[in-house]
Amino acid sequence: RAYLDRIDTVDPKIQALMTLTDELALAQAGEADSMIARGDGEALTGIPIVFKDVLCTKGIRTTCSSKMLENFIPPYDAAVVERLRGRWAVIIGKANMDEFAMGSSTENSAYFTTRNPWDTSRVPGGSSGGSAAAVAAGLAPAALGSDTGGSIRQPAAFCSVVGLKPTYGLVSRYGLIAFASSLDQIGPFTRDVADTALMLNAIAGYDPRDSTSVPQPETDYYGCLGDSVKGMRIGVPREYLAQGVTPQVKAVVDAALKVYEDLGCKIEECSLPTTDAALAVYYIIAPSEASANLARYDGVKYGYSFKDTDSMWQAMEKTRAIGFGPEVKRRIMLGTYALSAGYYDAWYVKAQKVRTVIRREFDAAFERYDALVTPTAPTMPFKIGEKAADPFSMYLSDICTIPVNIAGLPGISIQGGFAEGLPVGLQIIAKPFAEKTILKLGHAFQ
Ligand code: GLN
Repeated sequence: RAYLDRIDTVDPKIQALMTLTDELALAQAGEADSMIARGDGEALTGIPIVFKDVLCTKGIRTTCSSKMLENFIPPYDAAVVERLRGRWAVIIGKANMDEFAMGSSTENSAYFTTRNPWDTSRVPGGSSGGSAAAVAAGLAPAALGSDTGGSIRQPAAFCSVVGLKPTYGLVSRYGLIAFASSLDQIGPFTRDVADTALMLNAIAGYDPRDSTSVPQPETDYYGCLGDSVKGMRIGVPREYLAQGVTPQVKAVVDAALKVYEDLGCKIEECSLPTTDAALAVYYIIAPSEASANLARYDGVKYGYSFKDTDSMWQAMEKTRAIGFGPEVKRRIMLGTYALSAGYYDAWYVKAQKVRTVIRREFDAAFERYDALVTPTAPTMPFKIGEKAADPFSMYLSDICTIPVNIAGLPGISIQGGFAEGLPVGLQIIAKPFAEKTILKLGHAFQ
């Protein structure tokens, strides 16, 4: 009830939520109360959680912030929703996002723009901006988002919360509406690293319904948090402090590295030379996969359907013309072009080859370092409208996070500090399935 009251007073100013599930939340909270009274409660029992509206929730509208799915009510729960419900967590609402998770500011929602709780004239980041803003504004203690190129970490940085993108394959994507399947991962937003570890404990695990799910030994991510980080080797890739990183962001990262040095870590500058190709690789691969994944929205099976015509082709054309917003159309066109005969080798195959080079550079770095530390985003949160008309400048906000998805690595954004009253995030990256390393380092900093 306390969280519902807070949503009532605060959310009209922030607009983080697409759908409020207050009746369900109170019913679930009631059950959780009786469990706790019986002494059966565990870490997440009764904890209200906000879900990005890209995650299917049985019987609850799931829009992807698109007109295409305005009235879509999934007949099943995503694996992560199932897992959290299995631990008696409470579904309190669904969060606004960039349409189909394409964007970095939540301005691409077909419905409304979420505002940054620290400065409501600024964006909360994206595409999981609603989830990040909900946690930052105290509408819920935790939220889930999805991260294809930075959509958890960048909004976490902009809203001064913790956001984790797990290793590709650690968390089941079953029931996550697909954007770019080889890059998408689901992860939590919380106010501190300890809560992130608790959320990861709940959502990680093998799922045969996701063919890219990787079996891992049962791990307790919470138990390792107090361990010392003394002697850990941290690499600082110089390419991540070039390319448009503002002096304010750089100063916060430098100060954080000093903290790690004082904690006994060994800090060393290093190089990942192919970093500057990552954005180009991403904007071939992600749109290509999106063009295939979004082919299903044809007005026939589900979602918006234009019916005012006798022609099948016109029905499909109009359905997609009206149902999709401009950024989604841009991606579909880019991807269709990159995959078409005659261009496939020059663009898509080439991008896949560079993807391998980027992955190998990370592999080599992790032979020398336990973790890499970089800024999460090159700038502080920008003004609403500032980049909306210029897709390329918007794409640049993910320059520090995209390589991590390309290589399938785990990455976290923690609160690095503030500059000029605005949040700056710190990104910590490790090798595949080394979530414990980044959680330990994040926790030690906090
Ligand atoms: N901003 C990037 C994009 O628009 C990343 C989005 C994401 O991670 N879902 O594609």
